[in-house]
Amino acid sequence: MLLLVLNNFCAMDTEGIEIRIKTPVGDMDSSVDCPSLLSFSDLLVAIRDVMPETTITAFEYEDEVGDRITVRSDEELKAMLSYVNTRPNDCSPAAVGSMPNNSSSLKKSSAELKKILTNGQINGQDIQYQEQLGHGNGGTVYKAYHLLGNRVLAVKVIPLDITVELQKQIMSELEILYKCDSSYIITFYSAFFVENRISICTEYMDGGSLDVYRRIPEHVLGRISVAVVKGLTYLWSLKILHRDVKPSNMLVNTRGQVKLCDFGVSTQLVNSIAKTYVGTNAYMAPERISGEQYGIHSDVWSVGISFMELALGAFPYPQIQKNQGSLMPLQLLQCIVDEDPPVLPVGQFSQNFVHFITQCMKRLPKERPAPNNLMDHAFILLYDDGNAEVVSMWVCRCLEERRAQAQGQM
Ligand code: ATP
Ligand code: MG
Repeated sequence: MLLLVLNNFCAMDTEGIEIRIKTPVGDMDSSVDCPSLLSFSDLLVAIRDVMPETTITAFEYEDEVGDRITVRSDEELKAMLSYVNTRPNDCSPAAVGSMPNNSSSLKKSSAELKKILTNGQINGQDIQYQEQLGHGNGGTVYKAYHLLGNRVLAVKVIPLDITVELQKQIMSELEILYKCDSSYIITFYSAFFVENRISICTEYMDGGSLDVYRRIPEHVLGRISVAVVKGLTYLWSLKILHRDVKPSNMLVNTRGQVKLCDFGVSTQLVNSIAKTYVGTNAYMAPERISGEQYGIHSDVWSVGISFMELALGAFPYPQIQKNQGSLMPLQLLQCIVDEDPPVLPVGQFSQNFVHFITQCMKRLPKERPAPNNLMDHAFILLYDDGNAEVVSMWVCRCLEERRAQAQGQM
C-alpha cells in the first residue's frame, strides 16, 4: 500500500503539514496549508494525479514506533492529522523548503484543488495515449496521460471533415463546458482540432460506463439515479438539454461518483457527427423517434428506459436487439412509438422504483415528471442520502470480478 510520510510546519502566518508520497518511481512532496480543510477524497484525487497508473482507495502512515496505520475515510484522515499535530513542531522556515517540491501541490480546499486540476490548456503534444476505452457512434475514447498536468484523462477523438469556419463554431459552442461545475457532470478540460479530428479531453472515470455492468441491484441503482437526476437538473438549469441520455453516457468511478457525459452542447458538432453516422438512438423518446419537438421531457423518457434496462439487465423492448451501440434503423424502433411502454415486474422491484420508471416512460411528454417532480419522487428521496460508499463498493467488486475473469481466461 501507498505510504505517506508526514511533517508539520509553520511558516509566516500559516501552519500546515508536508506530505511525502512514497511512490515506486520516487518521492513526491507537497504541502497542505490548511489541513483541517482537507478531505479524504481531496487527498485521493491528488494522489491519483501523481500516480495515474494505480487505483488508490487507501493509504498508510507510520506512527512514532514505525507501525503502519491505514487511512480509508475522513475519520481516519482526521486521526492522522491530529497525530501529526501532536508531534513536536518544527517551526523553522527551513522545514518548509526542506523537501524538493516536484509534484502538483495538494491545496487548501477542494475548490482550489479542482481549479488546479482543471485549469490550463491541453495541447496535443503533451498527451500520451494509453489504452482504448471504447468506440461509439462517431468517436474513439482513449485513456491518456497529460504530461504537463500529471494527470490521467479520457480523450475522445472524432474524425470530422468540416471547414475551418465550422471548426471555430464548434470550439466556441464548446466554451460553455468550461462553466459546467457540478459533481454529477464530467469535468471538461479542453478541446482541440488536429487536422480533421477533434479531441475532447475530460476527466477519466476508472469504473467506465454503466452499459457494461450487468443487472444493477436496486439499492445501488437508487444512488445512481439520484446522481443522474441531479446532473440533468443542473444541465437543465443552464438551459442545456442532454439529448443523449443512455447507460454508456453515465460514468462511474471507484470513489462511488456517478457523472454524465456526452451532452449535446454543440449543435454543430452533433450535426457534423450525424452526417457520418446514420441511425436512430434506441433510448430516444417516442416523440423524437417520430420527428417531433424535443424538450426536457424527452431527456426524462431516456432516464426511464435507461434505468429500466440497467435494472433488468436487458433492453426493455425484447423485439429490439441492440447488438452494438445504440443506433438502429428507424423502422425497428417504431414499436416504441406504437406500443404501450413496458412496465417493470412489480414482484422483483419496489413499488417506488416501478412508479418512478412508469412516470418517466409516459407516452405523452407532458405527463412525465418535470425536474422538481423528479427530485421529489419518493424513489429519489429514499436514496438521496449521500452514501457514495454503496456505489463505490459495488464498482470495486465488479471491477475485481472482471479482472479475475480476464485472468482466468488467459
Ligand atoms: P455515443 O458515441 O453515441 O455516445 P458511446 O457512449 O457508446 O456512444 P463513446 O462516447 O465514444 O461511445 O464512448 C465509448 C466508451 O468509452 C464508453 O462506452 C465508455 O466505456 C468509455 N468512456 C467514455 N468516456 C469516458 C471517461 N471519461 N472515462 C472513462 N471511460 C470513458
Ligand atoms: Mg458516449
